Amino acid sequence: MSSRRNFIQMVSAPLLAMPFISQAESTAESLTSAEDGPILKVALLGLGGYANIVAKAMQNCKRAKITALISGTPSKLDQWGEKYNVPKTHRFSYEELNKIKNNPDIDAVYIMTPNLRHPEFAIQVANLGKHVISEKPMATNVKDAQRMIDACKKAGVKLLVGYRMHFEPNTLEIIKKREAGEFGKILFFQGLSGFIIGDPKQWRLNKQLAGGGSMMDIGIYSINGARYMTGEEPIWVTAQETKTDFEKFKEGVDETIQFQMGFPSGAVASCLSTYALNNLDKFYLNGTKGFAEMMPSTGYGPIKAKTNKGELSYPHITHQTTQMDEFAAILHDGKVPKIPVDGEEGLKDMKIIEAIFEAVKTGKKVALK
Ligand code: NAD
Repeated sequence: MSSRRNFIQMVSAPLLAMPFISQAESTAESLTSAEDGPILKVALLGLGGYANIVAKAMQNCKRAKITALISGTPSKLDQWGEKYNVPKTHRFSYEELNKIKNNPDIDAVYIMTPNLRHPEFAIQVANLGKHVISEKPMATNVKDAQRMIDACKKAGVKLLVGYRMHFEPNTLEIIKKREAGEFGKILFFQGLSGFIIGDPKQWRLNKQLAGGGSMMDIGIYSINGARYMTGEEPIWVTAQETKTDFEKFKEGVDETIQFQMGFPSGAVASCLSTYALNNLDKFYLNGTKGFAEMMPSTGYGPIKAKTNKGELSYPHITHQTTQMDEFAAILHDGKVPKIPVDGEEGLKDMKIIEAIFEAVKTGKKVALK
């Protein structure tokens, strides 16, 4: 049996056993359709905690493969090179990045450094003629995000942002149900995103390297989720910041921000971004005819989702495996994902984050253009 048929059988068998998600097949198909076609040859840049998760997940990819490693730490290049079978010739320091130009074994570079460095590396990679994959947030401000988009456009390469939830089956199914009118007119979204952050010395609590605090890191999930769950772009934001630990969360590093967003239809969102509460990972979408709830909603899974009609029970997928196979289909085949993952999508979140910071500062409602 071909691996494709195996895979389809693996995905669709549990789905067929679940009559309550009869609309699932097209969602599942959209995930399986990335399987055939050329392999995406990926260089991982920034070999930290998340790169480790991505690298492991990529071992099960059908269409994406680690072909090069780029790091500021020589010992990591050796260790990772051995572990993932990347030859010495394809291991580079940051200073050697220019060597990837014309290397036929690299299609794209996946940037997984602290946020500050995403734009600089992205622009360099684009100028070397390789596609850019940047982790979220794509930058620490709107200006840099725009520079990334412009550089990739000029170089004729694509720019993708690691929005792994955009390929998650429960998420896609709820969006499909909302589009089919199952929840009626959408009135309200709630997004709760947070965890208690540890080591006070880490880059996530450094304003320069992170661009802020919890909002850049985890609050972005509620912002992005509010947009894909409602299917609308916000036209205003209001926001309030609270801080309990002024030592850990210095000036410009947000501990907790509550924020609200208004949408053209009249729907509103109420969200919480925090580094001070654990077990905070929930989306709730409410309409005139029904609701959807996801808890957890954006963690690595399993994602648990239900609507007013009952639970959705998609089999757990490894988000990063699916994401990389889907990225292969986007970059190689021109596949258009249901929810965008391009630079413009990342820029929209960056604009909202800046508006939220402005709203915190001024105490005023900020209009979004
Ligand atoms: P990390 O601290 O574990 O790893 C960061 C890596 O960058 C390390 O290898 C470190 O040596 C290197 N580094 C540190 N400072 C650097 C600098 N100034 N310049 C260049 N490299 C530097 O962090 P992480 O958790 O892996 O996060 C990396 C990125 O991935 C962040 O942008 C983060 O928001 C994103 N992330 C995304 C998800 C997701 O689910 N999509 C999850 C976690 C992290």
